[in-house]
Amino acid sequence: MNFHILTLFPEMIEQGLGTSITGRAIKNGLIDVNAVNIRDYTKERHGKVDDYPYGGGAGMVMQAEPVYLSYKAVEEQILAEGRKKPRVIYTTPQGKVFNQRMAEEFAKEEDLVFLCGHYEGIDERALELVVTDNVSIGDYVLTGGELPAMVMIDSISRLVDGVLHNDDSAKYESFANNLLEYPQYTRPEEYMGLSVPKVLLSGDHKKVDQWRYEESLKRTKERRPDLLLGSDPIETSNFS
Ligand code: SAM
Repeated sequence: MNFHILTLFPEMIEQGLGTSITGRAIKNGLIDVNAVNIRDYTKERHGKVDDYPYGGGAGMVMQAEPVYLSYKAVEEQILAEGRKKPRVIYTTPQGKVFNQRMAEEFAKEEDLVFLCGHYEGIDERALELVVTDNVSIGDYVLTGGELPAMVMIDSISRLVDGVLHNDDSAKYESFANNLLEYPQYTRPEEYMGLSVPKVLLSGDHKKVDQWRYEESLKRTKERRPDLLLGSDPIETSNFS
C-alpha cells in the first residue's frame, strides 16, 4: 500500500513513521511512505508558500498553487504506474472524525494521499480541486496535519496483510464489532499482590472465550456505552 503525504515538514513524517512496526513494514516493502514537500512546488521567491487571508484576520493561509501542483505530481506518477486516481484525505478539524471503520475502508485502497495543512489552513480553491475526504482525528485544533496523517497511516497500516506478525491481533482488538478489548495479562502470575484471573490459567479455551466476552461487554458498557447502540455483539468464539 502506498501512502503519499503532501506536507511542509516531510522530515516529521519520515521520522515519525520510520521506526517500530511501521518502520519495519516500510523496510519489508509492505507499505511505502512518500513524503512530498509542498515547498518544492512554489514559484515564489525564498520558498514562500503562504500569504495573508483575503478579508483580513489572524494568521497566514497556505496558497493554492503549490498544494495543487504537488498533488498533480503525485497523481501523475500514480497514473503513469497504471494505478487509479487516488483518494485525497485533507486532515482537518472540520472533517468527519476518524475511526476504525474508516481505517478499514481506507486500507482497501492501493494509494492514499494525505494533505497536511498548517497555519490557518489551505486556500479553499486547492481543497475544492483535489480533496475527496475531509477527516479529523478529534474535536481539538492542532498546529498542523502531520500528526493526524501519521495517526491515520499507523492505524491503516496495521490492517495491511503482513504488517502485524499475527493478523488476528488486528481482528480482535478494540472496536472490532463495537466492543472494547478484554483486559490482558502476562507473566508473572502475581504482581504486587494482584493475581491473574484464574480462568486464564485453566487451559479451558471455551471458558477463556466466555470470560473475555463478558469482560469486553462489561468494559464497553462502563467506558464506551455509545459503541453498543445498534450493534450486534460479537460471537464469543471469536475471543481466543
Ligand atoms: N483554522 C482552521 C480551523 O479553524 O478549522 C484550523 C487550522 S489548524 C491550526 C492547521 C492545520 O492543522 C489544519 O489545516 C489541519 O491540516 C491540521 N489539523 C488541526 N487540527 C486537526 C484535527 N483535529 N484533525 C485533523 N487535522 C487537524
